[in-house]
Amino acid sequence: MSMLFAVNSPELSTKLVSQFPDSNVVHVPCVADLLLRLYANRLSGSNTYERNLSLVVYQEPASTSSATPESALNSISAEELSCLIQKQFPCFSLSVTTPANALEAVGGLNTRRTMYSTRLNRVSTWMYNDYAGPDQPGVNDSETCAHSKSDHKSHPASSCSSNVYTMLSHLTKVRRSSACNQRKPYSKMISSALDLRSLIHVPRGNTDKYYWDFLSTWDFCAMRLNTSELVWCSYLILGKLARDAGFEVSDNELFLLLLTLEASYHQGNKFHNFRHAVDVMQATWQLCCRLNSHFDSNASVLLVCVAAIGHDVGHPGTNNALMCDPLSPIAKLYQKKSVLENFHTEIFSDILRDHWPRILEKQSVISDTILATDMALHSQYVDQMDTSSSKHPTLLSLIIKAADISNVTRPLHISTKWAVLITCEFNECAALLKFLQKDDGYENYMPECDDPLPDCVESMLIKYPSIPKGQLLFINAFAESLFAGLGDCFHELKFLHNNVQENKKFWEGKM
Ligand SMILES: [Zn+2]
Repeated sequence: MSMLFAVNSPELSTKLVSQFPDSNVVHVPCVADLLLRLYANRLSGSNTYERNLSLVVYQEPASTSSATPESALNSISAEELSCLIQKQFPCFSLSVTTPANALEAVGGLNTRRTMYSTRLNRVSTWMYNDYAGPDQPGVNDSETCAHSKSDHKSHPASSCSSNVYTMLSHLTKVRRSSACNQRKPYSKMISSALDLRSLIHVPRGNTDKYYWDFLSTWDFCAMRLNTSELVWCSYLILGKLARDAGFEVSDNELFLLLLTLEASYHQGNKFHNFRHAVDVMQATWQLCCRLNSHFDSNASVLLVCVAAIGHDVGHPGTNNALMCDPLSPIAKLYQKKSVLENFHTEIFSDILRDHWPRILEKQSVISDTILATDMALHSQYVDQMDTSSSKHPTLLSLIIKAADISNVTRPLHISTKWAVLITCEFNECAALLKFLQKDDGYENYMPECDDPLPDCVESMLIKYPSIPKGQLLFINAFAESLFAGLGDCFHELKFLHNNVQENKKFWEGKM
């Protein structure tokens, strides 16, 4: 076990330390402090709560108070705390229980530990496990939960609060909450009680002007930013676009949305993580800036940038082929069509419903543009591209598509880094397939280490010699046609095709 939080009772933590000597027991005085700690851990880049099964043992307060926003937050019940954590940190495997059920809860987590013991175990649990919680009809939970359904009813926040992350449990919670008319306003409670801005630390001396200059060019390199800086840059762009479009949102609400989004991406994915989301949003925004004259309202730019930062939310780090074969419960739900993109759209809409409901007045723009990122539909978009593309929403869909595959149009040293990361993710998919087919080959798979990538292209190629071939395949099959077509339709975007050509020439020289 990585973490066992004892909340609201110093005696409790002493007792837990003696009961579970091998656990890392931490005492926190109240719910507000627990949340601040979880956000701070996440911003530090620590991936603890995705890698391990952790537990919060919460001593509910004897009396409740809503005199201040903070006291209201600190007075919630254990069941509410469990729901709040699932809402704010959806990718965490962090369960909530009460002191009376702590022993049983730790036992429950121990029986499920192997599901999370290695990266391949985790990813296959996320994708294929069908445990969706105690109230889900027709779902077999016998493998993942040692307790009977009557236990769940008597102890709703006990050991089996189903918080071993799976995509199905994530989606099921989202669907239950959108079917419920009275959504508990957890996001409001948090943004009223906590100063979220104070959690974001950017390196000393980096002014807003520094970040605007960094963001306002096609040489943007998201790999140079830590998690706090990624949140900060997203706040700068979305805050400005929201003001321009008249979609006001307070700073604290926007920070909370971004922190929730960050915690809805799996930090352990090599490529499909929050960094990719911010990179795609920056590219989307830059393309919109260059195509400014084609938009009749600032709202379109805001909406497509919002869609961009949420377009891969909850991504398991694999692909639609692996979702469909073997068939995951999620692929079944979407009839094997644009499985991941449909999943991202549903999860993201739920987040927006909690954090920025006004944006959902234009839900179709968000959904249509996210669904456009399915590469299976790529040729359809390329074939349809002609002068009629200047009509929305086709233009917005083309912009987000271009941004999503814009890595090959960035300067070579940046483009190569993204190529390394996607190669690592592809290698992991290949190992996962062997793992699922019980082919021993997967045992050779070692998740790549987290050392920063070298800046020098040649050093990267020594370590990853397959990159030139992979880049040429991708450019020839997908990127060249899209960027050539965009350049033909919009002279402002000709630079994308020129950049692809330049990178392509370099890769050809390496073959
Ligand atoms: Zn993407």
